[in-house]
Amino acid sequence: MLKKEFKRKDVQRARNLIMGNSGASTGTQIGYKKEIKDYKEGDVWTEGRKTWTIKNGIKQTVSKLDTIKKEVFMPLSCPCCGKIMKKRLDKPNYKIHKKCHDCVVEFEHKLRYTNKYNEYIKKLKVKNSLDIVDEMELYLLDAINTSNSGFVSEDGVIEKWNGGINKKEWSQKIKEASQTRREHLKKELNDKKGA
Ligand SMILES: [Zn+2]
Repeated sequence: MLKKEFKRKDVQRARNLIMGNSGASTGTQIGYKKEIKDYKEGDVWTEGRKTWTIKNGIKQTVSKLDTIKKEVFMPLSCPCCGKIMKKRLDKPNYKIHKKCHDCVVEFEHKLRYTNKYNEYIKKLKVKNSLDIVDEMELYLLDAINTSNSGFVSEDGVIEKWNGGINKKEWSQKIKEASQTRREHLKKELNDKKGA
């Protein structure tokens, strides 16, 4: 089974890609130096009337974070066997397979003795990538639309935006990039059937 993890470097890479394509001015703004605070992953603080946190290197409001949590909502018991999903591996498996870790192990064990196993693994990898694209899109759109004040870079420095960002333009770019990647993956899913 594949354990899906949303890597910070994936966010960073995507962000750089988009930032590089944009005409908007980014980087550390000199005029706002006194406002720069050293927040790190997982910190929660209040700024203005909102509560903020940093998740996957992106500054976001806590309420938005709750929305993201709902996106990956997991029921208490496994829809397949009915057992309570409380093991560490239940969560990543549920996200991909919609069943508990034990059920996935059992399913894969049975499948291993058929000629469909390789096809299954291939499909699983593509589905996993699609899942990452969806999540990345969600994070990036969320970041663009909640954060006017900038990003927290990998080394913990807050990058300020000069003159703000064009939310509409950037949202469009993110959606386009995600869609292109999705189409490519879906094509792969169909082309390599039984290969
Ligand atoms: Zn189960």
